[in-house]
Amino acid sequence: MSKIKLLDEKTKAQIAAGEVIERPASVVKELIENSIDAESKFIVIEIKNGGKSYIRVTDDGTGIDKDDIDYAFFRYSTSKIRSVEDLNHIYSLGFRGEALASISTIGKVEALTKTRDNNMGIQVLVENGKIKEKNIIGCQDGTTMIVKDIFYNLPVRQKFLKDENVESNYIGNIVNKLSLGNPNISFKYIRDNKMTLKTPGNGDLSSCIYSVLGKEILKGLIEVKSTYDSIKVYGLISNNNVYRGNRSHQYIYINGRYIKSYFLSGIIQECYRSLIPINKYPVFILFIEMDPQLIDINVHPTKQEIKFKNEKAVKDVVQGIIRDSLKSGLKIHDINFTE
Ligand code: ADP
Ligand code: MG
Repeated sequence: MSKIKLLDEKTKAQIAAGEVIERPASVVKELIENSIDAESKFIVIEIKNGGKSYIRVTDDGTGIDKDDIDYAFFRYSTSKIRSVEDLNHIYSLGFRGEALASISTIGKVEALTKTRDNNMGIQVLVENGKIKEKNIIGCQDGTTMIVKDIFYNLPVRQKFLKDENVESNYIGNIVNKLSLGNPNISFKYIRDNKMTLKTPGNGDLSSCIYSVLGKEILKGLIEVKSTYDSIKVYGLISNNNVYRGNRSHQYIYINGRYIKSYFLSGIIQECYRSLIPINKYPVFILFIEMDPQLIDINVHPTKQEIKFKNEKAVKDVVQGIIRDSLKSGLKIHDINFTE
């Protein structure tokens, strides 16, 4: 008797969802990234109970057309790429077409959306990956996604979530990363009815850092801005007086995407050798822009890891630029914002 059986659709969907959605913070990340990809200028994030019972992300972006709304919740359906080759020149944060399908498999979703070209908006209620109600409604341009009761249908996954405070902190970290990476967008974060973050969205990185990380940190940063070998590196990094006991204040963005990279934080750390005490870590908010063909972002479903095709070239350029800035610029960054 054969032992190998094809899994049913629901089980397949739940397994696939598990790769993208680990916890409420993963939902928040995917929703905010969609809002960023939709060219939003203002994004409001509201959560309750660590995001377990309620997550809402509202944007003023392009919206989803009524003809597209069904597809938005299908797995592997995306407006961002058409073929694998497109990955060689991708600048959007999403492209796998998995997030909304996954989120609507593990939580109860309500979407409200309207494009500028439509007079009326559309509301859909989605459960177990299927649209169960669709209504034409009046609403503002842009999109609101509400996700309730994460993992309500997967009690084991629900049990593995941490307490509300810890889950809220995970979400706070995601909001910080995405807002620091997008100073041209105003982010507002409301946690359990309390506004905990608002960034100005005026495009100025210093003002954004001031809102997210505070004045003390900002005062100890110096500016980096240089291009070498078609690799552009810019942002703000510690002078030799500002450091932390861990890597929590290290933010790296490649072509606008927040990434985790031991390789990059390691090579930056090397530039600070003999400048800061051993076992301390510099603070940096660093943007690297390079030809997308020289990186592979499709390494992991959450897309937070990347591979460089030529690590040595990246290392030489990044270290060269940072060492130059540390040598020439050990002055405190000009703070020209209003408190
Ligand atoms: P991906 O982001 O990888 O394309 P998603 O499942 O996250 O996949 O979203 C599916 C599609 O739904 C997107 O390609 C986009 O066209 C549309 N979409 C999702 N969220 C938004 C939003 N906030 N504003 C406009 N369009 C959106
Ligand atoms: Mg997406």
